Amino acid sequence: MTSILLLFLDGVGLGPSDPHTNPFAHARLPRLEFLLSGRTLSADLGPFSSETCTFVRTDATLGVAGRPQSATGQATLLTGVNVAREIGEHYGPKPNQAIRDIVHRHNLLAELRHAGRRAALLNAYPPRYFAGIRSGLRLLSVIPFAFFDAGLPIPEEGDLREGRALSADFTGIGWHQRLGYSDTPVHTPREAGATLAGLACAQDFSVFDGWLTDYAGHGGDMQASLEVLQVLDTVVGELHAAGEKDGLLTVITSDHGNLEDLRERGHTINPVPTLILGPRQLREEVAGHMADLTGLAPAVRRILL
Ligand SMILES: [Zn+2]
Repeated sequence: MTSILLLFLDGVGLGPSDPHTNPFAHARLPRLEFLLSGRTLSADLGPFSSETCTFVRTDATLGVAGRPQSATGQATLLTGVNVAREIGEHYGPKPNQAIRDIVHRHNLLAELRHAGRRAALLNAYPPRYFAGIRSGLRLLSVIPFAFFDAGLPIPEEGDLREGRALSADFTGIGWHQRLGYSDTPVHTPREAGATLAGLACAQDFSVFDGWLTDYAGHGGDMQASLEVLQVLDTVVGELHAAGEKDGLLTVITSDHGNLEDLRERGHTINPVPTLILGPRQLREEVAGHMADLTGLAPAVRRILL
């Protein structure tokens, strides 16, 4: 059975290739550059499939006016339903009851679980996150909600410590610098990428919820954005290696644009990149579904169910 990893990057679209406004055009990203044969992940990049990867542009507006938002976009990815059209608007960042109901009725993760497939979320969340949920002050965003709804665990501190999950920044340094821990694991970007690949290969379907890209886009800070992308580049290199060595199929996509245009602190209506690594035939099968965000869940169903 093929292992599929969804490396979800919140708020990454295809913007103008201007190094002053687009961190993808400014950053030195050698592994991504290798995969794209020297080109940049930007609006100039047309769809292609090569020896190393397959790329398509994916519409995130879903035929609904306004700026795409995280809850409707992520719910669309994990159900295959055009959730923005169903509820009549783009909505987010956290899901409302109507979105949670749609996720519950069409939850890809629940379908995989009921078919006996192994599915896992690969991000760990700190204790204060769970405390916020329990107190009602914080709502689960769609990706962890979909795992919870499917009866699957949301990884916590112990999972991070024991290497069953990574932190949202991949390396774990954020738990030290922002959360005040001194003894949770810290990995180099390369170790983090290899760990992520290993965890993904032990599942049929796994998801890494990378929300730092959207956070950096809202912050509008070029230097902070470059730091996020440099770690990501190394991780992508390790996932590519796992595709060659172990046949891991990695689908990297997003819910809406943001980070690709730092002039714009909010979300954009740009298409988002879908970059697929791993066995070529499967890459191309997934790419054929990804004209818009509704295509991911049907593609995963076709391969795994
Ligand atoms: Zn956002």
